[in-house]
Amino acid sequence: MTTFETFCSRASELDAVDPLAHLVERFVPNPELIYLDGNSLGRLPKATVSLMEDMVLHQWGDRLIRSWNEHWIELPQKIAAKIARLVGAGEDEIFLGDSTSVNLFKLAYGVLRYNNGRKLIISDEFNFPSDLYVLQGLAESLGQGHELRILPGIDGIHPDLPLLEQNVNQQTALVCLSHVTFRSAYLYDMAAINSLAQKAGTQIIWDLSHAVGSVEVNLKETGAQLAVGCTYKYLNGGPGAPAFLYVSREFQQQLFSPIWAWFGHANPFEFSQHYEPRKDVWKYAAGTPPILSIAAIEPGLDLLLESGMQSVRQKSLSLSGLFLEAYRQFLEPLGFSLASPENPRYRGSHVSLRHSEGYRICQALIHPMDGVKPIIPDFRNPDLIRFGFAPLYNTHTEVVTTIGRLADIVNHKIYLHFDKTRAAVT
Ligand SMILES: *Cc1c(COP(=O)(O)O)cnc(C)c1O
Repeated sequence: MTTFETFCSRASELDAVDPLAHLVERFVPNPELIYLDGNSLGRLPKATVSLMEDMVLHQWGDRLIRSWNEHWIELPQKIAAKIARLVGAGEDEIFLGDSTSVNLFKLAYGVLRYNNGRKLIISDEFNFPSDLYVLQGLAESLGQGHELRILPGIDGIHPDLPLLEQNVNQQTALVCLSHVTFRSAYLYDMAAINSLAQKAGTQIIWDLSHAVGSVEVNLKETGAQLAVGCTYKYLNGGPGAPAFLYVSREFQQQLFSPIWAWFGHANPFEFSQHYEPRKDVWKYAAGTPPILSIAAIEPGLDLLLESGMQSVRQKSLSLSGLFLEAYRQFLEPLGFSLASPENPRYRGSHVSLRHSEGYRICQALIHPMDGVKPIIPDFRNPDLIRFGFAPLYNTHTEVVTTIGRLADIVNHKIYLHFDKTRAAVT
C-alpha cells in the first residue's frame, strides 16, 4: 500500500527529471486549470500568437495579394514536409488541407475504384464515427453494392484480431482503422496489420488523428500506403485546423482523386478549361488552401520535432503509467473500471475510465465548488471519462492531483450536486 503522499512526491521527482518539462513555458499559460483534453483540442503555443498577428496584420493587411508569391504559395508544402518527418513519410507523400473526413472520402473513393470488383469495406467498432459515416455515404453514393462491415471488438477495449484477419481477404476492397482508437486508446500494430492487407492484395487507410504527435508513427517503415490525420489534437494546430493525407510514392499515380479543382491542376494559373491533375500528392488540393489556418499548424509541429517523438512517447507512457498505478490503488475500489489497454505497447496517450456516474463526476471535475483548480478531461457516452495526457505540457503532478480529485468527488459524493443534462459539445 503506497500512500497518496508517496504518489505526490514520486510525481514531483518525475517532473524534476523530465527532459520535456521546460516545454510548458512555450504555451500560453493556463495556470488556473489542469487541462487533460489535448486529445480533443491541443493548447495554444505562444509562437502561434505572434505568428498569427504577423500573418493577419502584415502578410494579409499590408501585403495583400503579393503575399501569395512572397510566401503563401509554398507554405502548405513546407508545413506538410514537417508533418512528414513526424510520421515517417517522405516530404512528397503528405498533402495538407481539408478536414480528416473529406480526406478520407478522397482516398476511400480512389481505393474502391482501384479495387473494383471487390465489395467489402472493413472497419471496426472502435473507429471514429465520422469515418464510418464517410464510408457509408461513399458506398451509398457509388451504388455498386459495397458493404461496410463494422467488426466488433472483444471487450470494448481490444479489437478481435483473429476476426480482423479473417475479414481481410480476397473480397476486401478497403480496410479503414484508427491507429489509436478514440475511446479506449488501443494502439494497433501498424506493421502487422499492413502485412495482412498486403497478403490479401488490399489497401488500408489509417486514421492517425489520435496517434500523430502522441505515439511514434512510421508510415514507410511499416509498409503503410495510405493515411489521414488531424492537426488540432496533439499537434496543437488550433480549432478545425486543416488535416493531412498520406499516399505512398509508389501508389500516387494509381489512385484517382474524385474532386477535380483548380489547385490540384497541373497548371492552375493557365486557367485552361480542361482538367489535368498534378502528378503528385497535391492533386488532392480541392481548392485554395486556407493559409491562416495552415500557418497556425507550424509552431506546434516545431515543438514536437524539437522534442523528438521518442521522448514524447516516453513521457506519455510515464504519465499514463503513473495514472494507472494510482488508479488501481485509489479509484478501482470506488467503482471505477479501466476502459483502456493495460499493456503500454497497445496504449496511445489517453486513458479512459468508466464509472456509472461518469458524466456527473466529469462535471464535478470541470466545475469545482471548493476553490480548487478545474480539471478538464472529456466525456464520451455512456459512462466514459477520457484523460488525455499531452506530453508537451502535462505533468506527473497534474496526473496525481487528478486521481486525488476523482477519489474526493466519489468519497464525498460531490457529483450529486450536478445534474444529468448534457452539454452540446462534451
Ligand atoms: C478527431 C478525429 C477526426 C476528425 O475529423 P474531422 O473531419 O477533421 O473533423 C477523424 N478521425 C478520428 C479518428 C479522430 O480522432
